[in-house]
Amino acid sequence: MTEKEKIWLRQYPKAVPANLDYPDKPLTDFLARSAADFPDKEAIIFMGKRITFRELLEEVCRCANMFKDLGIKQGDRVSVMLPNCPQAVIAYYAALWVGAIVVQTNPMYVERELEHQLVDSKAETIVCLDMVYPKVAKVKDRTQLKRVIVTSIKDYLPFPKNWLYPLKLMKDGIKVQIPYDTGEVHRFSSLLKKALPTPVDSPVKSMDDVALLQYTGGTTGLAKAAMLTHRNLVANVVQCSAWMYKSERGQEKMLGIVPFFHVYGMTTVMNYAIYQAATMVLLPRFEPEDVLKTISRERPTLFPGAPTIYIGLLNHPNLERYDLSSIKTCLSGSAPLPLMVQEKFEQVSGGRLVEGYGLTESSPVTHANPIWERRKNGSIGLPWPDTDCRIVDPATGEELPPGEVGEIQVRGPQVMKGYWNREEETAQVLRDGWLSTGDIGTMDDEGYFYIMDRKKDMIIASGYNIYPREVEEVLYQHPAVKEAAVIGVPDPYRGETVKAFIVLKQGEEVGEADMNTYCREKLASYKVPRLYEFREELPKTTVGKILRRVLADEERKKAAHS
Ligand code: AMP
Repeated sequence: MTEKEKIWLRQYPKAVPANLDYPDKPLTDFLARSAADFPDKEAIIFMGKRITFRELLEEVCRCANMFKDLGIKQGDRVSVMLPNCPQAVIAYYAALWVGAIVVQTNPMYVERELEHQLVDSKAETIVCLDMVYPKVAKVKDRTQLKRVIVTSIKDYLPFPKNWLYPLKLMKDGIKVQIPYDTGEVHRFSSLLKKALPTPVDSPVKSMDDVALLQYTGGTTGLAKAAMLTHRNLVANVVQCSAWMYKSERGQEKMLGIVPFFHVYGMTTVMNYAIYQAATMVLLPRFEPEDVLKTISRERPTLFPGAPTIYIGLLNHPNLERYDLSSIKTCLSGSAPLPLMVQEKFEQVSGGRLVEGYGLTESSPVTHANPIWERRKNGSIGLPWPDTDCRIVDPATGEELPPGEVGEIQVRGPQVMKGYWNREEETAQVLRDGWLSTGDIGTMDDEGYFYIMDRKKDMIIASGYNIYPREVEEVLYQHPAVKEAAVIGVPDPYRGETVKAFIVLKQGEEVGEADMNTYCREKLASYKVPRLYEFREELPKTTVGKILRRVLADEERKKAAHS
């Protein structure tokens, strides 16, 4: 028996097998199966509009026929630039159905980012929301775009009485002038109405065909695309379902607040829900009050999120007015989950909130804590079935024993094929199936993993290695602190020194001196921040991950001007 098998037998929930069987069918087969087994179950709830699995399949077939009629072929890239709404699911599944490669495009991209992504992916088609059309129009001539298909948030809304809050999205959309019927710009809803709902034969014959280009690493420099195959995406969903073994097909309702254009929401909400025939309750943007209202009203059972989402809800002044008791399971990913947040959210909802871990290059999830069995605080948990994980010395690549700190590498069926058109970068991170994550961590002798930090984010002050996360964890324990981020800033004596950015809870007044006294009690002096900056908010990604790199860039710019 290998060491890993021994660990598995000792630690893993009995109901989770070490190895799984994966269907040998493209991702779209999940939808066909759920529509056959649960035709009348609601697949999507969006602002009061309810769409069953039968209806969703019909819309996807129409959209796939529309794509075919427009001349989209196997291997073509189709950019989907939508927030969470029914069209995001329909366009994504329809594009995969005709064998196209989906390029997930963040609707908040500025022109520069959008142009880079369209040029790099050579997408000829984009499906976008009316309100972002002006950005698309501006960059279009510098890309290979041939078809722009525009949809509106109201295309799938029932009568106004249920319009909750996408009003702003709608108003912005209405203001935009769109030159329909010029041959290049199409109205999604009209084309869909004209297209046939007949099933389309999928041309995807190999599970190793690329299904998705998922861009990553764009916070500095230019983003590159991870090529995720049908095998990768199918595997991660099946792994997710093995992990959540108490969830039965056709029984769950999921809150869809993490965006689907980010790999985390795409897999753990959209694809998982389609596979499990769970209902998705979609919200196009994070507004704490609306999320709380939606939970009370629609009573979702599963709620994948990110730490800042849970923090945002916990800090809402009217939290007690809402009933969150329907929530059974929450998976928090994409950034470290402060312990306080986990404990408080579990108290408020009565459900379980467990931390998981992953990255774009692994579709994304590779680890999670057991939901109903032993979990460990501060740990990202155990690797998922069929997923190997090891800690290596970043300098030599040698595997390190439990307890030692090094770079985390993972291997499994969810690991990407490589970066799109970037052989050199692929070779740097993928070797013999092992993906170098760029995260620094350790494994304890029971096989639980811990993230210390990103390789790049480690601060070296006077020769000491400081992991910002450790300092942030201490700051989060301070009762007045709502959010915190720690970075290294250049220092003439120490090389780097620790700077903390803090957002205080409403009504709190704590100064630098208080924070300093507090930190001195909890941290070795070399880790104590020398500089503090109090802010109203911190820069974040769309899944709510605090962008330390943006803060570091700001600091660099300030230093250059002083
Ligand atoms: P992305 O590819 O944008 O999803 O970012 C992946 C990165 O997010 C990982 O390499 C980690 O640095 C970070 N990350 C994800 N989950 C966690 C977690 N639970 N704790 C700490 N960092 C995380």
